[in-house]
Amino acid sequence: MIVILLGPPGAGKGTQAQRLKENYGLMHLSTGDILRQEIAKGTELGLKAKEVMDAGGLVPDEYVIKMIEDKINQPDYKAGVILDGFPRTTQQAITLDEMLEQYNKKIDAVIEIKVDDEQLIKRISGRYSCAECGVCYNKYFKKPAEEGICDVCGSTEFKHRSDDNEETVKKRLEAYYKETMPIIPYYVGKSILKTVDGMRDIDEVSAEINSLLEKK
Ligand code: ADP
Ligand code: ADP
Ligand code: ZN
Repeated sequence: MIVILLGPPGAGKGTQAQRLKENYGLMHLSTGDILRQEIAKGTELGLKAKEVMDAGGLVPDEYVIKMIEDKINQPDYKAGVILDGFPRTTQQAITLDEMLEQYNKKIDAVIEIKVDDEQLIKRISGRYSCAECGVCYNKYFKKPAEEGICDVCGSTEFKHRSDDNEETVKKRLEAYYKETMPIIPYYVGKSILKTVDGMRDIDEVSAEINSLLEKK
């Protein structure tokens, strides 16, 4: 199964991808996570990407397409994958289709998570994650059961993304509306787009996504 999660920054793509991974045994492929790993490793790609990401722009198509191509062919991804944050431009969507066709694969569903701007800004300014295991929390909506201690691994170290500030978020939203939204009609044309109301709480959004996928 190949599922794409589409939505603006802060919509809950990563959160829902994590749940789908657990429920369906799919791999979670996040281009944002891969880029942050490249930055942490200090690679050439990481250096280039950091500048663009901190400015709230999109990393050039050729780099992200190459990242996806390198992964999607690996044996681990045979059972299926959730694409989180890819594609983000029409060119990426078209190249993905060409890539999948080559391997006789196809996209099962594109799930668009809709959330209004005010809520997105709040979610992003409150987002932080465990420095040890990476699980995501929110200052306003989803604190660990015991404050300051990760539910999953017990770590007491947390981190905040450098691009999760109000100024950059506005730029990221602009990039979403201008460069990513045009993908929506592309997938509507293929009859694979499903839209969910991402304003509800995490469990309700998960339940709706599960029911959409179970109908497949
Ligand atoms: P994305 O990957 O789309 O940028 P995340 O999954 O990282 O979004 O979610 C952004 C922030 O909002 C995180 O701090 C997460 O804990 C929180 N969050 C995710 N889904 C919801 C929801 N349905 N309601 C409230 N907060 C949410
Ligand atoms: P978000 O929480 O905003 O959805 P991501 O972690 O998916 O964030 O992405 C962080 C940043 O990485 C983006 O703002 C963008 O600069 C870059 N990025 C991630 N995926 C892509 C992509 N498919 N194409 C271009 N740039 C990307
Ligand atoms: Zn942890």
